[in-house]
Amino acid sequence: MPILCDYHWHTPLCQHATGPLEAYVERALGLGLREVGFSDHNPLPRGLGANVRMTEAELDGYVNRVLALQARYRGQIDVRLGLEMDYVEGLEPYLTAQLARYPWDYVIGSVHYLDAGCVQSAWPKKYIGTAPELYGPYLGLIRQLAASGLCDIIGHFDVPKRSGCRPTAAEADDITRTLQAIAQAGTCVEINTSGYRHPELPHPQPYPALPLVEQALALGIPLAVNSDAHAPEQVGLRFTEVDAWLRRHGCRQLARFAHRQRDYYAL
Ligand SMILES: [Zn+2]
Ligand SMILES: [Zn+2]
Repeated sequence: MPILCDYHWHTPLCQHATGPLEAYVERALGLGLREVGFSDHNPLPRGLGANVRMTEAELDGYVNRVLALQARYRGQIDVRLGLEMDYVEGLEPYLTAQLARYPWDYVIGSVHYLDAGCVQSAWPKKYIGTAPELYGPYLGLIRQLAASGLCDIIGHFDVPKRSGCRPTAAEADDITRTLQAIAQAGTCVEINTSGYRHPELPHPQPYPALPLVEQALALGIPLAVNSDAHAPEQVGLRFTEVDAWLRRHGCRQLARFAHRQRDYYAL
């Protein structure tokens, strides 16, 4: 079977995605996907990161909108209810309460900020520090996120490379240690194909880079392939070639989610 799921889609509520929600689903139907889901950026308290997410008051409406689409497309394609949750140190009680309020099918956990004030981006533009200064704190937060059990899927694993600062040999151990921690926690990692459309990257590649996906496979980490679409035409981006790559590298199954339970389908 080809890749059948795409779980990482945004909506205009986050203020940096476009298109009616139906257009994402219609695009997925056209591509032959069977199970898809929205996972928009979650609200945070006190206006943290407010420019790239819905407000707390909008969360009910988001959930209801996705559930309505699920009902509308039943029998054609399964539309799942997801959320991309920012992992911010110290906000665990807030996030736990937020997750408990709705019937999520899955939660993608991402680190977009390196500090509790959500000011320092995980992929700062014009970054002038060293690779350890960027990847050290970032990977530490990813390990905390995995250990927290708050999420089902780790989002865009090596996204700091988007800053132009690539991990060096010095980061290799830290990255391996982090993948081991994720394997230990039993969390799924997404192969996020949005990297293929990010011009900041030196050559087209997903998050994580394919050599890191090989490490994840060797560690037995469950994988999913997601487009991180912020526009309908980005749905399923490069899935055909990622599918071929996964088969060549011995991947035989991908994770799927419902009601925060993980299952697998054969590739
Ligand atoms: Zn986004
Ligand atoms: Zn993200």
